[in-house]
Amino acid sequence: MNSFFLKTITDLVGSDRILMNEDMSKHTTFKTGGPADIFVSPRTEEAASDLVWYLNETVRDYFIIGNGSNLLVSDLGYRGVVIDLSGLDEIKVTGNIITAQTGAALSKVSHIAADEGLAGMEGLSGIPGSVGGAAVMNAGAYGDEMSMVVKSVKVAAGKGSSVVLTKRELKYGYRTSVFRTHKYLILSVEFELEKGDRDEIREKIRQNTESRRKKQPLDKPSAGSTFKRPEGYFAGKLIMDAGLSGFTVGGARVSEKHCGFIINTGRATSADIYDLINEIRERVYARFGVKLEPEICMLGEF
Ligand SMILES: Cc1cc2nc3c(=O)[nH]c(=O)nc-3n(C[C@H](O)[C@H](O)[C@H](O)COP(=O)(O)OP(=O)(O)OC[C@H]3O[C@@H](n4cnc5c(N)ncnc54)[C@H](O)[C@@H]3O)c2cc1C
Repeated sequence: MNSFFLKTITDLVGSDRILMNEDMSKHTTFKTGGPADIFVSPRTEEAASDLVWYLNETVRDYFIIGNGSNLLVSDLGYRGVVIDLSGLDEIKVTGNIITAQTGAALSKVSHIAADEGLAGMEGLSGIPGSVGGAAVMNAGAYGDEMSMVVKSVKVAAGKGSSVVLTKRELKYGYRTSVFRTHKYLILSVEFELEKGDRDEIREKIRQNTESRRKKQPLDKPSAGSTFKRPEGYFAGKLIMDAGLSGFTVGGARVSEKHCGFIINTGRATSADIYDLINEIRERVYARFGVKLEPEICMLGEF
């Protein structure tokens, strides 16, 4: 490790905000993955912006993590810097606008919206991601989607500064956005919501929570739906119809409760999950001629 590089990072974020060889299984909902060389948690938006500027200048590999709920990290870990923004989690409400920092939990923002009588995020309330991760993935469920409620996104622009991307610039599509092709660091997201009836909003959230509990294997580590929805099909149904319910590789299994989910039965490695993903893709393609594309993001070498 270059000591000048490490010293500069320390000067930017503070020594108490840096971990070396951090076990990434602690930061992913799959609960798998090896160590990241450097794991940095900036305390302020300015520090995050300075850090990413320095990393871009020095062309070091870096990866921004949200809540790790859509992420598979290699068992070999990651030879670079992981930027964790979970400490940036302020949420402010002004009329029908909610501004949330990137590390705030999406579910918390949805519940605050409900308390304020603001509608539009009921379907998003059960998604276990951060605001930043959800903005990147254009997360959605039960008829709601980030693209419907995001007004703008503030991103780091280097040396403590930031710029605001408007909705049009976000290029939202199904589980995709400009952030999938351009490496921006999201600092905060502005949501624009509709006035609604508080009790109706809360009731919708309750129904969605109930439905998730019934249909999804929430008691086991996973990253939600493994694959994007192929046009005209449902990934989970294709996997089930291919006879893969309960299909297992090492400690990774196709959930019997929801075939779209891969679960960690307790002793899975990321390699098990990766191999299972490939096995599913091959078998579904052989049976139905449909190519399943992973929705989950991957970090490190597989
Ligand atoms: C039980 C379960 C249920 C789920 N249900 C749903 C669902 O109904 N609908 C749905 O859409 N998803 C669902 N997911 C998947 C996941 O929760 C979402 O994709 C979520 O939006 C990911 O957010 P995250 O903060 O965990 O992001 P991460 O997984 O940490 O990261 C995802 C991507 O965002 C990038 N990123 C994160 N923060 C930033 C930032 N500040 N700046 C730039 N890039 C950033 C990462 O680099 C990565 O590319 C589910 C997952 C689980 C485990």
